[in-house]
Parts: sequence; structure tokens; C-alpha cells
Amino acid sequence: MISYKYKSPNYNNRVKNSKIEFIIIHYTGVDMQFHKVINWFLDERSRVSCHFLIDKSGEIYNLVDVSKRAWHAGKSFWNNCVDINSNSIGIELHNAGNEDFTSHQLESLVKLIKKLMQDNAIQSWNILGHSDVSIGRKIDPGIKFPWHHLAKEKIGFFSNLSQENFDMDNSDNNSPQTIKEIQSKLMRIGYDVNKSGVFDMQTVEGLKAFQRHWRPVKVSGMLDVSTKQILTEVHKKLSEYRAAN
Ligand SMILES: [Zn+2]
Repeated sequence: MISYKYKSPNYNNRVKNSKIEFIIIHYTGVDMQFHKVINWFLDERSRVSCHFLIDKSGEIYNLVDVSKRAWHAGKSFWNNCVDINSNSIGIELHNAGNEDFTSHQLESLVKLIKKLMQDNAIQSWNILGHSDVSIGRKIDPGIKFPWHHLAKEKIGFFSNLSQENFDMDNSDNNSPQTIKEIQSKLMRIGYDVNKSGVFDMQTVEGLKAFQRHWRPVKVSGMLDVSTKQILTEVHKKLSEYRAAN
């Protein structure tokens, strides 16, 4: 099921005593044939890699041993962890960024994630997108990535609140207190925002990242009614989940 015939030179050792806690999902993001994409990861000049690359037919290629630190996340942050590469496994999906993922690809992805979760005792909640951990800098795996499909497979959690006809009203007077509460929820989920009480750029980027993952139909960075509702729900479910695990 997994091919080991290609090896990337782009890795180093994980920081001593680091635990593999996260799986980070990416898309390759360029309109390029698969052999060119894989050659990029195999070329030491690129300085990038991932542990697994999945092509459109669902074939999985292991490019870096899981015990090693692949170079996929770059500058990143989640829940006070700043060396995501040392604490994660990176999975790249061959996808130009504006196209649907194939069903074969998603099937292989789900199988691979389940196996990696089991082998490394990774919590379901810690399956994240590159956009979650590098806010304002990365947008992959993008709004076409079906987080709801993964949630059905008990990987992560997706809001049951409406993704259609949602309330876009953002005319509420957002007091510094409300903004602080929103920032606090984003922070507790894991996002790299500060509790400034000001609707600053970092908060906008945090909200955009949140929307990409939990309300992909509209990524605005605005604090509309629907975003507040979904954020409250995700935060609550996550708190319950963390308390129970
Ligand atoms: Zn990425």
C-alpha cells in the first residue's frame, strides 16, 4: 500500500525528546505533473520534503522516515508548540490548489491517518491543516479539503451548524470584551493569536484560518454571527474532548 522507492534528502533529526503529536495536511499547490512534484521533494536544493506524498490515484509514497524531521511546515505555531516539524508528520496531497481531491486520494489519506494515529498515539483532534499552524502565511490544504469527510471517519470534528444559509451579519457591536473572548477561544483551540482586545491583523488571520477549516464556504476574516456560533461550538467540543483524553 505504501511505496518506499523514493527517498528525500531533505530532513534532519527531530529535536531530542520531541513527541509526534500532530499530523499536518498539505496540498502541493502547483499545477505540475506528479513526477515533477516528486522530483522537487527529492531535490536537495528545494529544502522541502514531507513524510508522505499521495498521488491522485491514491498511491502513497513515503519520502522521509517517520522517525526523522521532514521539512514541511516551516514557521509555524499550534498550542504554544513552535517547532511543528519536530512534533508532526507531514502529508502532501498532489493537488494544484483549486481542484477537488480525488476519492482514491481521500480513501488512502483516511487509511494512512488512522494507521499513523494508532502507531504514534496521535489524538484525533491534532490532525491539522498547514493553514491552521501557519496563519497569514499558508492556505493549504485549502477550502476544497473535506474536513467534514474526515470527521465522519472520526478524524477531528466538524461543526454540525449550517454551512448553508448561514448568518453573515457582522453588524454587532464587538466590544473589546467580545473580541477578547473570541481571541481567547481561538488561542485555546491552538491558533497563534493574542488576547489584545483589538480586532488586529493577527485576529483577522486567525479567523480566516479557522474559517478555512470549519466554515470553508466563506473565508472572510470577519466576525459574523455564524463564525461566532461555530467557534463557540468547536471550542466547547474541543474542551470536552481534551478533558476526556
Ligand atoms: Zn503546506
